[in-house]
Amino acid sequence: MPEHTAPPRPSSPARHRRRLVAGCAALAASLALAACGTASGALQPQPSTTTAASPPAPSASSPVSPSGTPSPGTPSSGTPSSGSPSSAAPVPGTPSATLPPTGPTTPSAPSTPPAPKPTPPKPGTAGPSTPGPGKSTTATPRPPAPPAPSTGVPTSVVRSTASGGRTVALTFDDGPGPATGQVLDLLAQYHAKATFCLVGKQAAAGPATVRRIVAAGHRLCDHSVDHPQPFAALSHEQAVHQIVDAETAIVRAGGPGTAVGWFRAPGGAFTEDNQRIAADNGLRPLGWSVDPRDWSRPGTAAIVSAVQSQLKPGGVVLLHDGGGDRGQTVAALRQLLPWLAAQGYRFDFPAS
Ligand SMILES: [Zn+2]
Repeated sequence: MPEHTAPPRPSSPARHRRRLVAGCAALAASLALAACGTASGALQPQPSTTTAASPPAPSASSPVSPSGTPSPGTPSSGTPSSGSPSSAAPVPGTPSATLPPTGPTTPSAPSTPPAPKPTPPKPGTAGPSTPGPGKSTTATPRPPAPPAPSTGVPTSVVRSTASGGRTVALTFDDGPGPATGQVLDLLAQYHAKATFCLVGKQAAAGPATVRRIVAAGHRLCDHSVDHPQPFAALSHEQAVHQIVDAETAIVRAGGPGTAVGWFRAPGGAFTEDNQRIAADNGLRPLGWSVDPRDWSRPGTAAIVSAVQSQLKPGGVVLLHDGGGDRGQTVAALRQLLPWLAAQGYRFDFPAS
């Protein structure tokens, strides 16, 4: 739900150079990786051997050009597998019921526990100024507690759909990219709605695609300005820049009325700090419960079977429409959409 329409914020005056993406981008280029590594920042070698076909990633030190379209494969999305093996229960009747779960893999970033609530003063323990035992009605200074986000958006990472029940939330990371149009075509064919986690620089480079996403009724998620990794290693100021300026770029690309409801940390590298920054800006941290690791191009059949085996009602599926050649993802989606419909799933958005 577009529960928040954060007021426009000025862009950060300081453009952080993308030093942190250097390692990921260079390695990604060398591996022809479109997507990023895991929450730990480690890139996963992919089975594909088509390394020569990978376009070079832009230099990490190159300035952000408003007209520069990042080459596909640059911003890579790290995808720590969220799925614990025990959570990958097959949907009854699925052809993949005999497939093993895809785990164990890197655990997802833990959710941030709820902000501590101030403890009300207890009688007799309120301090030396308390007039007497059992009387604490006078105002006792409370220790400063982290204020809840004024936006009312929870800081915890959501990994389930808004409606629950037999619903699924499809999410697409690292776009908009060359495959986004095909993904949109397929979603329209099956009357499916999805959530797109956009990279700010690419949104700025492809505003028409962003507008098409919005016009089709899909929803938007902030996936940082330029996908630096490891995202958890960013300073607070860098994280603010990555989150706030990406949202600004996405809204600008989408046009008036564009709302961004979530933030997904590159690589799933959520921290207490970046979750709070997101929530303070009206963005619910968005994780996932199903990770077929499509970014590593494991093969269409592997992507399909991973989703079929991991998905449970209310699940959030992580897929990629950007960050490199997404042909396998598109082909898998072409199979998964009718399968989901046949399984009785309704398409939903993540909880917000
Ligand atoms: Zn990503």
